[in-house]
Amino acid sequence: MAKSYDAIIIGAGIIGCATSLALGRKGWKVSAGYGSTSGSCAIIRPYYSTLDGSAMAYESHFYWKNWADYLGGDDVDERGLIEYHNVGSLVMKTEANDYLRPTMELMDRLDSPYSEYSPAEIREKLPVWNTDSFYPVKRPQDPGFGVPNDEPLPGGVLFHAAGYISDPQLATHNIMRAAEIAGGEFRYNARVVEILRAGGKVSGIALENGETLESPVVLNAAGPHSSKVNQMADVEKSMKVKTRALRQEVAHVPLPEGYRRETACVTSDSDIGLYTRPEQGDALLIGSEDPPCDPHEWVDPDDYNRDFSEQWKVQVLRTCQRVPNLGVPNQMRGVVDLYDVTDDWIPIYDQSDLPGFYLAIGTSGNQFKNAPIAGQLMADIIEATQNGNDQDASPIDFHLKYIDHTFSSGFYSRLREINQDSSFSVLG
Ligand SMILES: Cc1cc2nc3c(=O)[nH]c(=O)nc-3n(C[C@H](O)[C@H](O)[C@H](O)COP(=O)(O)OP(=O)(O)OC[C@H]3O[C@@H](n4cnc5c(N)ncnc54)[C@H](O)[C@@H]3O)c2cc1C
Repeated sequence: MAKSYDAIIIGAGIIGCATSLALGRKGWKVSAGYGSTSGSCAIIRPYYSTLDGSAMAYESHFYWKNWADYLGGDDVDERGLIEYHNVGSLVMKTEANDYLRPTMELMDRLDSPYSEYSPAEIREKLPVWNTDSFYPVKRPQDPGFGVPNDEPLPGGVLFHAAGYISDPQLATHNIMRAAEIAGGEFRYNARVVEILRAGGKVSGIALENGETLESPVVLNAAGPHSSKVNQMADVEKSMKVKTRALRQEVAHVPLPEGYRRETACVTSDSDIGLYTRPEQGDALLIGSEDPPCDPHEWVDPDDYNRDFSEQWKVQVLRTCQRVPNLGVPNQMRGVVDLYDVTDDWIPIYDQSDLPGFYLAIGTSGNQFKNAPIAGQLMADIIEATQNGNDQDASPIDFHLKYIDHTFSSGFYSRLREINQDSSFSVLG
């Protein structure tokens, strides 16, 4: 006889694990896969381009700060708990972000603290940084590449509710262990190949090894495979906002001479199209903010190039504009991984047209930080919908307890109009 559960989660990256924990705490019997999230840069920051997106991100800072409270104790994981490096994120003021005026306005509305930095103060905090402007972002073959503009950067803003987690996989493992304590069950190497239906509703899943599992609730938290899983469930066609996998490269290079770890922080720099943070092993991590001059590489998540390409060098050379003594190492190190991107780079946390089949997808390269809240939001949506609420007609409200802010979960609907307030980039 097939095993049966109150809920099955396809994918146990950080989003699937956090939902498993939240459902387990509601007393549900949950089964999930064993997941990844390992390639994430795991940067925590409160600023997004919308108020609701920023509110959720600011709230997440308090979950990372009070990690043991969220997990239910500091001894839940034999591997130990992650550390949140709450070092702040220094964002350069540029034409591309309207000199951060709209961002500071959003932060004011949420009471999220920040400090404005002059160019001299930026150089004092980050001694190896120069504050020339190179905007707009260019490819290295452009004759103007590396040539500073007449006007330097006007300054930056340090957002204090920000930083990074140095081990995103351990963060996921921490939540997985907490979810197990709450009664959740995890399966290794269990690839879902079919979504089962009965009476017009979801009834379970079939695994590649031939096993079937029964459940009235199945959640798609399959990360970059979300579109494939939606196609299996035949729910994609009716979605207004869809998802697809985008290839990304992250470079890790040796820290430049003079980089002061004690004052270092996350940086976000639309003047050169990059973000950085200190990485383990005395490295500087360099990720791309997807400037318009770079092509998007949409891929099949089961068949893409896992090696570094020219893009790795492009990102390092761009950083050399800001940090002239960085150098370009011969050995390429870092990460090649995928974002699961929606049409407006805002995730989908919702039900679907197939009763009992739910979506926590389209995390668009920016939802690691929000996972604890996304898990709780999904658990609440699932519980309310299974109890008869129509999430499409009356999406539930969700309260952010630390910052005392309530938003409508309709913000994350699969049926929304494309949100034109979005940055249409990894910045969300
Ligand atoms: C390079 C990079 C940098 C990033 N940087 C940041 C950052 O700095 N800050 C931030 O907040 N976010 C960041 N993100 C985004 C963040 O990491 C993701 O939003 C988050 O990890 C998504 O987690 P997930 O659980 O949805 O997906 P995943 O972690 O991808 O998990 C999905 C799981 O589903 C499984 N799966 C897929 N198909 C099936 C199937 N058919 N059957 C069973 N299992 C299946 C997969 O094996 C996988 O384990 C970054 C992402 C990348 C790639």
